[in-house]
Amino acid sequence: MDVAKDDALSKSVEVADIPCFEITDGPDPLFSAVSTIRGIGPKLAEAFGRLLGNGLRGPARRLDLLLHLPHGLLDHNLNDDPRTLVEGKRVTLDISIVAHRPPYQRRQPYRIDCLLGDEPLQLVFFQGRRNYLQDQLPVGKTRVISGTIGRYGKGKNQIWQVVHPEFVAIPKALSASEPQKGQWLQPVYPSTQGLTQRVLQSRIRTALDDLELHAALLPEWQDPSWIERQGWPSLTEALRQIHTPTQSDDILPTSKARARLAYDELLASQLTLSLTRRKTQERDGKARKGDGRLRRQVIDGLPFTLTAAQEQAIVEINQDLAKPAKMLRLLQGDVGSGKTVVAALAMLQVIEAGSQAALMAPTDVLVRQHGNALYELLRPAGVTVALLTGRESGTSRRDLLMRLASGEIQAIIGTHALFQDDVAFCELGLAVIDEQHRFGVDQRIALAEKSPHSDVLVMTATPIPRTLVLSFYGDVELSEIRQKPIGRKSIATRAAPKSKLDQVIEAVGRAIEEGDQIYWICPLVSPSDELNLTSAEERHESLKAAFGAKVGLVHGQMASTEKDAAMQAFSSGETRLLVATTVIEVGVDVANATAIVIEHAERFGLAQLHQLRGRVGRGDKPSSCLLLYAEPLSQLARQRLDVLRKSEDGFFLAEEDLRLRGPGEVLGTKQSGIPSFRLADLVEHAGLLATARDDARLVLARDPELKSPRGQALRLLLRWHDEATVASYLRSG
Ligand code: ADP
Ligand code: MG
Repeated sequence: MDVAKDDALSKSVEVADIPCFEITDGPDPLFSAVSTIRGIGPKLAEAFGRLLGNGLRGPARRLDLLLHLPHGLLDHNLNDDPRTLVEGKRVTLDISIVAHRPPYQRRQPYRIDCLLGDEPLQLVFFQGRRNYLQDQLPVGKTRVISGTIGRYGKGKNQIWQVVHPEFVAIPKALSASEPQKGQWLQPVYPSTQGLTQRVLQSRIRTALDDLELHAALLPEWQDPSWIERQGWPSLTEALRQIHTPTQSDDILPTSKARARLAYDELLASQLTLSLTRRKTQERDGKARKGDGRLRRQVIDGLPFTLTAAQEQAIVEINQDLAKPAKMLRLLQGDVGSGKTVVAALAMLQVIEAGSQAALMAPTDVLVRQHGNALYELLRPAGVTVALLTGRESGTSRRDLLMRLASGEIQAIIGTHALFQDDVAFCELGLAVIDEQHRFGVDQRIALAEKSPHSDVLVMTATPIPRTLVLSFYGDVELSEIRQKPIGRKSIATRAAPKSKLDQVIEAVGRAIEEGDQIYWICPLVSPSDELNLTSAEERHESLKAAFGAKVGLVHGQMASTEKDAAMQAFSSGETRLLVATTVIEVGVDVANATAIVIEHAERFGLAQLHQLRGRVGRGDKPSSCLLLYAEPLSQLARQRLDVLRKSEDGFFLAEEDLRLRGPGEVLGTKQSGIPSFRLADLVEHAGLLATARDDARLVLARDPELKSPRGQALRLLLRWHDEATVASYLRSG
């Protein structure tokens, strides 16, 4: 661990060396703090810090402000023709003021009679201040106002009315500020307390002006011919277009300006990933060929033949392990596609070569499951296997750690207990990480530091769409098992509203009478005041009332031993109906379970539903899945349930999930450490991501230290993207 820290330190000196463009007159227009912008004092700087701040990055920089993009537009385009007005619409009108009518009584509004062309129109202010209004809207003058238009009065006396116009301006001032006649679009920004739209707009404009002043000094970091082919603007122009839109398309992700900024961000992240990867590869890995002795024994003992997809994945991993470079490979395969045996064979290969192998799973339940499965697989080869979770303690733990450090234990399966400081391997050759996206970034780093020479195989049963794989791992190698073992029955999936609950319970009763085993999933552990959802505890109570001791309960808040007991009772058949939360989502394997009821299916994501459904259909009996939903169903939820009923292909469902929900939701960005992009939209800009990856590869192949003119410019881009990360990976130029 210390070695790695020193490493990072020795390389972090170069932050200062990443060049910036030469500014002599004033602050750096990209990287200096927002407090250097005219009109931003300490108090505003603090508010901007809150809005833009990223704890890791330090105070908000000008760049952060410039990249704070509008999420909407106020359309102040003049709409002068009374015949085209529609009640309830926001409009901007050129009006002339005819008369002020202050209220006779306190409760009445202040009215101002105006003309819109020849049509009467009334402005209405509740508690309007007379002096102020007479000043803003003087009789006999014309003004531009905007607000929501309505009709007032009855029959023939109906007139147009705007209550509390949100915006009043002198027509001349308007046209002076915006040369295109009749075009006046105002960007609207995400904001925070203490920052008005007006302040945001004006400070962003100032930052833009400052940047434009120095635009000639800012080098283009993209390949000029690529930029030209795409018809993209320069960075400065792109920012200008987005912050001073002239048409509504300008702020959409599809605009050329947005695409350019997105590409900048994607390229920066791909370069960072490649640099990171290069660094880990430089720490030389070890070639671990193995002699095939243990693997042959295990394969010969399998009760089935490997599928072609499994064979293929095994060959790919085998070749990686046999090379001296460090392996980072992602093994994706649907639930039940048979990843465990593939992982076991990889582990055996490094064990044959005299190293140790570890498999990490996110939960105790899974560790036990994997433990059993792997134990069964590895036993014929006589491999020494151990388990390590948070439960091991005292002498048994100490003893285990000693055997691990001496190399006696050849394979270990554990939770993040494996990351703890006092866990030391004799020589860890391969780390297999199951369901990786449930591990945080720190844990991944801790693992990398524990095993500087070990190869890494990441397995996921929730296939991640390729675009996300690229954005997360960059240049990772990918193995996919898209084929299911022969003989797998498909799972009949149906959806029903909760109003059919009684019938469902009756059917469940019949099924368990006939010897079936059923999961019943609820979204919450215990009842919640805020959410009107059935909790696992409540459902357990009501089902127990109906079926007695045959009903079990397992959820994440139970003690480990209770969880184990509940799972054990279900897999031995002692309980027939297991009420559970999503703790059973991953990996749990009870071959006799043939049905799953998912209550409040509308609350779950597509990938998660697919995972849950994968708990059944593991044996040879036909299986079913019932999606029980509460009405009314949102459009999105309905689509999800439809897609799920129609497909059992996890890869297809993952792409659909990404399309329906967006990348942040798909993997739960926050905790997963998946980079969340500020500018790029992984659905809209998916194509650009692949280009960025190729671009990054090419750049680093030609100019590994980023010393060429473009390389120097790219350092600037990297600095924009993430100073902290980049600093530790670049050598001094
Ligand atoms: P997952 O990819 O979800 O981890 P597992 O590795 O747990 O899948 O495999 C699910 C089940 O399929 C296990 O019981 C395993 O023994 C079995 N299995 C794996 N490969 C094959 C195969 N080629 N043919 C038949 N059954 C297989
Ligand atoms: Mg598995």
